[in-house]
This record gives sequence, structure tokens and C-alpha cells, in this order.
Amino acid sequence: MKIFELTCDDLGREMRRCYGKGDYHARALYKNIFQKGIVDVGAVEEFQASGNLGTRVAKDLVLTTGSIGESVHEDETIKFVTVLEDGRRIESVIIPMRGYSTLCVSSQVGCRQGCVFCETGTMGLVRNLSVEEIVAQVWRARFDLGYPVRNVVFMGMGEALDNVDNVAQAIRVMQDQRGLDIPLRRMTLSTAGRIDGLARLASLGLGGIRLAISLNAANDALRSRIMPVNRRFPLAELKKALLEYPLPANREFLIEYVVFKGLNDSLDHAADVLAFVRDLPVRVNIIGYNPGHKALFEPPSEQDLLSFSEYLQQHGINTRIRWSKGRSIMAGCGQLASAKTSC
Ligand code: SF4
Repeated sequence: MKIFELTCDDLGREMRRCYGKGDYHARALYKNIFQKGIVDVGAVEEFQASGNLGTRVAKDLVLTTGSIGESVHEDETIKFVTVLEDGRRIESVIIPMRGYSTLCVSSQVGCRQGCVFCETGTMGLVRNLSVEEIVAQVWRARFDLGYPVRNVVFMGMGEALDNVDNVAQAIRVMQDQRGLDIPLRRMTLSTAGRIDGLARLASLGLGGIRLAISLNAANDALRSRIMPVNRRFPLAELKKALLEYPLPANREFLIEYVVFKGLNDSLDHAADVLAFVRDLPVRVNIIGYNPGHKALFEPPSEQDLLSFSEYLQQHGINTRIRWSKGRSIMAGCGQLASAKTSC
């Protein structure tokens, strides 16, 4: 029984099926594990009056989530490695805010999308993460490292929508109010533009998650050059999918635009972005490129970012510059890819 893959209702069903016991014991076990961080079934009071039930459940409980590896800090930002059962390594980043933390989680080991500016893309796809490997990143950040994770962003290693079914179940587990209790509105999923994955997410009833679209260029020639996904799902199709997406009322798409000096930083490029977002409910986040181990581009100057952002703002687009956190520890946007990965 892989408990990190189950909602409390799923666990109740499993308990009934395997032991003839249901919701009462499931809720108690779930609370201990996901709210108190205690995985020891013997510590759950409710099991103590139920004969050998605790021993049987403990025997069947499987945790294949790996173990925590090294962590590095820059100011408040912490990047930590999880060493998975097969020796692969993934990275997660904790960004402490005032009184709570945001956790950036990985959804794959590597990524097959091959965006040319992205450190993870250089690895290729090694494998998808299982549901429990995704959920365990939140659990470890809370209970092993002690950070009050309130927000989760799927912006770590991998294209989340290339692993959409596991990501969807991980979201359901994280949402469960009897466990980790992270509401959907506090989760953000970033995609390079897997239109089919967006439709799947909505069909699974998870359309209420915040969506971040990694745009980075708003003309097809340039976008296809730096983001191969655009050859399969060009901008017109992406825009159509966003227009048709069942976005909750008063919600907007986050449009992520990483600026590379001399590549996509001119006012003509800003005009392309304006044309793309004009009739969409959006907030545009402008992000300066973070050079990885092999810097393929140059980072923009502060002035480049300001000019780009001002252009969009002057045309009525809600735009912010996201000053990068964690750049020196390779924890910034596009920088995650464990140097010691075993693949
Ligand atoms: Fe994959 Fe995202 Fe990196 Fe592109 S930016 S290669 S989709 S992890």
C-alpha cells in the first residue's frame, strides 16, 4: 500500500478491502502521516485497541520515496536533492516568504522537451516521477526540513504535463484537507505548452489550478528555435487552447517570459508578446535568464528588463519583473538539473 499515492478516501477504500476496517482508522493514520509527519503506525492511538491491525498495516505500508540528499542555501532560498530508490536524483527548491514557504517541485527526472536555455532539458528525459515521489517532496520540505510549505509550484525538473496523470493524482493527495491540505488555488503548474495536457487536466476536474505558460518568444520562428514544443503546438494553437480553457472566474494565466540578451529582448519582441496576450486574462512575469553550467546566452541587464516590462505596462498589460532568487546555487528558473544525477 503506497500511502503517499492515496487520498484519505482512497486509503479508507484500501483499508476496507484489505482489513475490513475503513474510514476511522484511515483518517487517524492519514493525520499522523500527513499532518504530524509520523510514519510509525504503532504511534497511532486508534490502532492500539484494534488487535494486530497496526502490525498488519505497518507490514503492508510501502514507502519508496528515496531519501534526502544534500542541500544548499542562498540567502533564504534552499535547494535540496532527493536521492530516489533507483539512485536517480531530483531537486526541489524552498522559497521562504513571510510566515510560510513556497516549494518548487520536480515532476520528472530530466525532461524531453529540450528547451535550449534550460539545464534540465540538457539531460533528456530519464523517467517520470511516481505520484509518491512528487508528494514526498512536499512532505520532506515540511517534516524533514521544517518549512511551513503553503504554496506548491510545478516548476522544477520536467514538463509536468508530460506526466499529467501522476501529477494529477499528486495534486489530489496534496489537496486533501485531512492531510497536507494545500488548496488548488495555492498550486501553480507551469507548462511549455502541452495543449493536450491542458485539456486532460481540465477533464480531470483540476482546471482550477493556477497555470503558468512558459512563453519566452511570441513569434513561431524564434519560439520553435528555443522551445521545440512549439513545432508541435504553435502559438496560434496555444492561444486557442488558452481562450477555450475553463479558467475560474477572476483568475488569470501567468505568462512567463525569460529574457535573453540579444535574442528576445527588443521592443519588437515585446510587441509580439502584446499581440499574443492582448485578449487573454494574464499577468506577464518578466524573468532575467539564469546562465546554467554551460551558458548559451547572456543574461539581460536590469535596464533591458525594465524597458520590456514598461512597454507591456504602457499597453495595459499587467506585468511584473520577477527578480531571480537562488541564482548562485543553480536554483533559479531553468537551472535545475542535478549535476550528480546518475543518468
Ligand atoms: Fe523541460 Fe521546462 Fe526545461 Fe523546457 S523549460 S526543457 S519544458 S523543464
